[in-house]
Formats: sequence, C-alpha cells, structure tokens
Amino acid sequence: MIEFRHVSLEYPVTRTLALDDLNLHIGKGEFTYLVGHSGAGKSSFMNLVLKRALPSKGEVRVAGESLTRYRGRRTALLRRRMGTVFQENLLLSHLNAFDNVAFALRVTGVPQREWPQRVTLALRTVGLEHKKYALPLQLSQGEQQRVAIARAIVSNPPLLLADEPTGNLDPDNSREVLKVLQNVNLRGTTVVVATHAKDLVETYRHRTLTLRKGRLVRDDPYGGYAL
Ligand code: ADP
Ligand code: ADP
Repeated sequence: MIEFRHVSLEYPVTRTLALDDLNLHIGKGEFTYLVGHSGAGKSSFMNLVLKRALPSKGEVRVAGESLTRYRGRRTALLRRRMGTVFQENLLLSHLNAFDNVAFALRVTGVPQREWPQRVTLALRTVGLEHKKYALPLQLSQGEQQRVAIARAIVSNPPLLLADEPTGNLDPDNSREVLKVLQNVNLRGTTVVVATHAKDLVETYRHRTLTLRKGRLVRDDPYGGYAL
C-alpha cells in the first residue's frame, strides 16, 4: 500500500534533512505505528504520502503508483482514496455528527440518496450511531475524534492516516480511539498511526516503525516503544 524507496526530504531555505534515505514497505491491510521524538520526521512522512510535499530524492509509491507522476486532478483523486485524522478533529461546530460525516460524501460527489446508509454505517463503526444528532460541543473530546474518524472512513478509503489522533485526549478516550482505529483496520483498511503515546503502542501491539532524526532506526513486527 505504501512504499518508500531511498526517500529523502530536505526542506528548502533551512535545508533541514527531515527524512534521510528511508526504505520501507507497508502492506495492504496492515496496522502500523510510526513513532519518534518531536522532529523525527513523522509529519514529513505523512506529508509525502499525502503528496503535500515531494521527496528531494527517491520515490514514494502508494497503491502501486509512483506519486511523482501524479499531476493536478490525479492528486486530488489520490487524496480521496486516503482518510486522514489529525490531533485537532476540525469538526464543523454548527453541524451535528451525521452532517459532519455526510459532509465528506458531499465533497466527493456521492449521490445524496446514499448518504443515510453510509453515514449510519460509519457512525456505527466508531460506536456513535446513537449520537448522530449531537453537535460537536455536546460530545466529549474522544467522541468528537471518533466522529472525525467516521468522516475519514465514510468514503471507504483503502488507507487511513492518523497523525497524533490521541494527542488531545485523556487515557480512557485515547484507548477508545485506538480500539476504533483497530476496528477500521479489521474491516480491511490499511492504517498508519503517528504517535507519541507510549502506553498505547505498548498495550495495543502492532508493527512499529521508529524514526530518529529522519532515519528509520527500528522496524518491530510486534511493536514496542524504544526511542
Ligand atoms: P508534531 O511534533 O506534533 O508532529 P511538529 O512540531 O513536528 O508537530 O510540526 C507541526 C507542523 O509545523 C507540521 O506541519 C510541520 O511541517 C511544521 N513545522 C515543523 N517544524 C517546522 C520548521 N522548522 N519550519 C517550518 N514548519 C515547521
Ligand atoms: P515530527 O512530525 O516527527 O515531529 P517533522 O516531520 O514535523 O517531525 O519534522 C522533521 C524535521 O523537519 C524537523 O527538524 C522540523 O523542524 C523540520 N521541518 C518540518 N517541517 C518543516 C518545514 N515546513 N520547513 C522547514 N523545516 C521543517
């Protein structure tokens, strides 16, 4: 699903080498953590997969296709095949849970008659079908993040990228969000989670890639957090 071949990313002006000769392969259906100190290159990795940045060297491939060959419209289509979840959930405060999730379908042009079934299924996957009429402010931080996950998966992307999805959450809500991400993965979606949350990585074990100063220093098939 994701392949990096000798990928380096040097930011212009400051000439920071954010990623240094990265080689890795994340298979279809895998659940993978990406860990590392602040500045290790986690966001840069996500930005390359989303094609928000281009590698200075090497090749990034997603779903078998090289991103460097993508242009304009194809880049937009590529992004639609990826769900994203960030530390800030960015829900629209005037829309209820249902409408926030449906918004993702509107943007991608899915016919309106399909919305109820698809939104309901996505909310069910994150365990919030019963909160579909709640506004974001009427939900806990963890529930809001689960709505954001529902919004990310409602268009059935083969790949879900989560960047510090539990960064703003207390331990109970963090565990709930992690379980939801695991459920999404069990339904067949490839999931990549960039995180600092040592306890989660050690409790819910999955393949763990460790970055240090832009280099991949560990690839533990059964997890473990050792920075
Ligand atoms: P986190 O530790 O949560 O991943 P970061 O501090 O790495 O957050 O970065 C947050 C955002 O700021 C990212 O989008 C990143 O690209 C940007 N950023 C980080 N460092 C710099 C920098 N030196 N100059 C410009 N932008 C930066
Ligand atoms: P992480 O997400 O692991 O905290 P980042 O990928 O944000 O790491 O950052 C990796 C390195 O690149 C850091 O040294 C950071 O300061 C630098 N960096 C990130 N974004 C930018 C940017 N837009 N411009 C310049 N330097 C950046």
